[in-house]
Amino acid sequence: MLTRELSDPLARLHHPDDPNVKLVFAQMDLMDPGVNGTGLILNVTKLPKDEAKKFQRSFEQMEYSSYISSLIPLHRSLPDIRLKGCHSLYTDLNLPETSVVIIFHNEHWSVLLRTIHSIMDNTPPHLIKEIILVDDASTDKVLKEPLEEYVSRFSKMQLLRAESRQGLIRARMVGFEQSTAPVAVFMDAHWECFPGWLEPMVTRIAQNQSIITTPNLHGVNSESFQIIRWGQRKSLGIPVLTFPNLFFTWSVMSEVEWKTRKRETDPVRSPAMVGCVFAVSRNWFKKIGMFDPGLEIWGGENTELSVKTWLCGGGLEIIPCSNVAHMYHPHRPSKESDIRYKRNIARVSNVWLDKYKYFTDNYDGSIVDYGDISDRIALRDSLQCHQFEFYLTHVYPDQFIPGNGIYTGPIRNVVVSSHCLDSGGKKNRDSVDILLYSCHGQGNQLWDFTKHHEIRTGGQCLDSGYRRNVVMRNCNGQRGNQEWHVVSLDGHLLLQSHGYCISVTKNKSALVLEKCHNSRSLLQLWTWKKNTKPWIS
Ligand code: UDP
Ligand code: MN
Repeated sequence: MLTRELSDPLARLHHPDDPNVKLVFAQMDLMDPGVNGTGLILNVTKLPKDEAKKFQRSFEQMEYSSYISSLIPLHRSLPDIRLKGCHSLYTDLNLPETSVVIIFHNEHWSVLLRTIHSIMDNTPPHLIKEIILVDDASTDKVLKEPLEEYVSRFSKMQLLRAESRQGLIRARMVGFEQSTAPVAVFMDAHWECFPGWLEPMVTRIAQNQSIITTPNLHGVNSESFQIIRWGQRKSLGIPVLTFPNLFFTWSVMSEVEWKTRKRETDPVRSPAMVGCVFAVSRNWFKKIGMFDPGLEIWGGENTELSVKTWLCGGGLEIIPCSNVAHMYHPHRPSKESDIRYKRNIARVSNVWLDKYKYFTDNYDGSIVDYGDISDRIALRDSLQCHQFEFYLTHVYPDQFIPGNGIYTGPIRNVVVSSHCLDSGGKKNRDSVDILLYSCHGQGNQLWDFTKHHEIRTGGQCLDSGYRRNVVMRNCNGQRGNQEWHVVSLDGHLLLQSHGYCISVTKNKSALVLEKCHNSRSLLQLWTWKKNTKPWIS
């Protein structure tokens, strides 16, 4: 495959920063980089100077290593990782056709084309009516005529150009408006599909067109392009909403869901969804008003779609037999994008969250004006959707809303009373050491004690399973090391988990977990405010 691509002038394009492929292959003794989902790690010190520079520049420009990507074939095989039962489940290929809509803004040539080929190589052709690429005002010249020429070889492929930057939300709608199949799949431009990825998602929509389906997600490492397999079966990641930023975090399947399903291949109800890939029926997407066109550039659209689908009579499901890998790349943080995101989510919360909007960032527009939302409110009224309360009672009763705990706010030590528990400590592999830090009562120091006996902040939970360290980890809803008791003692509180208490060290500088004294050891005593007004009981 690679030899053919090397000899194909269009398949290897000529970006000044692309590797000198022949030279690198010869010097580094590369055989089949990327094959079967493997990654490529180059010893950069062995690269000629010019090449090493290109290698470095590729990170600076793209937030991922386009240099490495260029050394991996546009067609590469991925292993068949489907669960056992999947193969026999999806043999009926008499399914509705799909339009795949792929948006991009300055995606690297090799990454974009690998996405497209991976779709074509891993899907029965009759199921794909068209692949619509939407160029959201890219500036990279390679994505102009050369891409047009490349795309023109494939009859099912269309390339649309936005005249000015639309952002991913409106760009997706540009592609959708042009598409014609009964099912649409929206994708970022940096995916790789595993064999049999599409059929299970479309099968479910053919059964019930108000279900939006997402695959079992895996990762492509942004430096080596190695495929990283994520959890399947019980360790499948389930997106749930986070407050106050209305983003999502990964959680686990609830016990109820695990027990309700008959087979491990059955769809899994999901409270929220990612935005980077999903399948939806044309009718349903239109009926629920597509995306809010007032959302700018990036973010919030997946939350809007999650909430309104559940509130307006549909649902979200992850389909375990469908597997795809997304290249997660770091985003360069900027004040501008942060403000824009807050604007986007204020639109979503003011339209859909009723009184729960008070728990979200910028709900009152005090950080940034969120514009006119009257059309979206009219849409909600015309669809006669449920109140947000329905989401909390019927869709995801475990939804945690900061500020709504039994105890809430800063946790202050009795001896070192100027200092509070602070979650912003040192990151370890899968946990964060928490700190004793002077009290400021913001973000990292806003804690809640929930009815599930968790002590939470910022979407994470205190965990007592790390010997003497007090750490934060992703909440797992399993109690275990994340089960706490707030015990009242002499008018103060002990924070206790399985007989161990959070304490300040003797030199009063750090935190430690130690056996509870249940006595006058003031170092183990804390003050924390009881919530006088919980919103949800
Ligand atoms: N994108 C776009 N226009 C923009 C910003 C992003 O078309 O103004 C595309 C981008 O090329 C990618 C998708 O939208 O295909 C999602 O962006 P990104 O991958 O950065 O988001 P993430 O998946 O990391 O959340
Ligand atoms: Mn992405």
